[in-house]
Amino acid sequence: MEYLSYSRLTLHDTCGLRFFYEYVEKREPVDEVPTYHASFGKILHALYEEHAVSHGECNFDQLKARFDERFPTIVSEFASRDDAVQFYKRGVQAIWRFSRYKIDDVIASEKEFLLDIAPGIPPVKGFIDRVLEVPSNGYVVADLKTGKVFSATDKKKMRQLVLYSSACEDLYGMSANDGYFDFVVHGGREWVTITDEDRQQAKAWVIQKWQQILDEQFYPRYSRNFCSQYCPFRSLCKEYQERTLAV
Ligand code: SF4
Repeated sequence: MEYLSYSRLTLHDTCGLRFFYEYVEKREPVDEVPTYHASFGKILHALYEEHAVSHGECNFDQLKARFDERFPTIVSEFASRDDAVQFYKRGVQAIWRFSRYKIDDVIASEKEFLLDIAPGIPPVKGFIDRVLEVPSNGYVVADLKTGKVFSATDKKKMRQLVLYSSACEDLYGMSANDGYFDFVVHGGREWVTITDEDRQQAKAWVIQKWQQILDEQFYPRYSRNFCSQYCPFRSLCKEYQERTLAV
């Protein structure tokens, strides 16, 4: 494997077998899964970035005009017209929120990194949605979330920001001591303070996950909702077949 990523390793945590289908066998999806969440998120991520790159000159009206151009391209992915309308409204509300941000302290958007964890382990690749340099606090990393709000103190979720914090050390010579998830659709930010211990624990997690991959620990982990709605390999999966036949 050329590189690891937070999302790849999290997928292995969620279901080892799905990780195997996707990243070891590199199979094409077999079963249909909803794509509108990802497509909607992609549009908002691009606009979020465009706002920062323009140093805030791209205002609400301009961002909304771009949203209005792009949103129709994903309408067919929604299950119903009502769903599409709901998401359209959420998108406009999100743009309204982030178009008012002061972004003088944003020093990079969608900043790519390749983080070496330990010899013999593929590097962790990722993109930091925003890196900020705050006079009183040093570097701060931010990740845009377009889904439901969760607590950033959830250790598993927090790992994403911790890995970004370590990447800052590689990129700028100093790690980020703070980070936040920016829930632009539902509103609010979830902040965390990131310590050396957090960074060590996140690295240890990557090493542990890589060892599990080397040991071919690709076990299925059945979850009715996740499997039946979001797994594009469910018709290949014996665990899924057995569990659904048993119902
Ligand atoms: S159907 Fe469920 S258990 Fe089977 S591979 Fe997919 S996510 Fe894993």
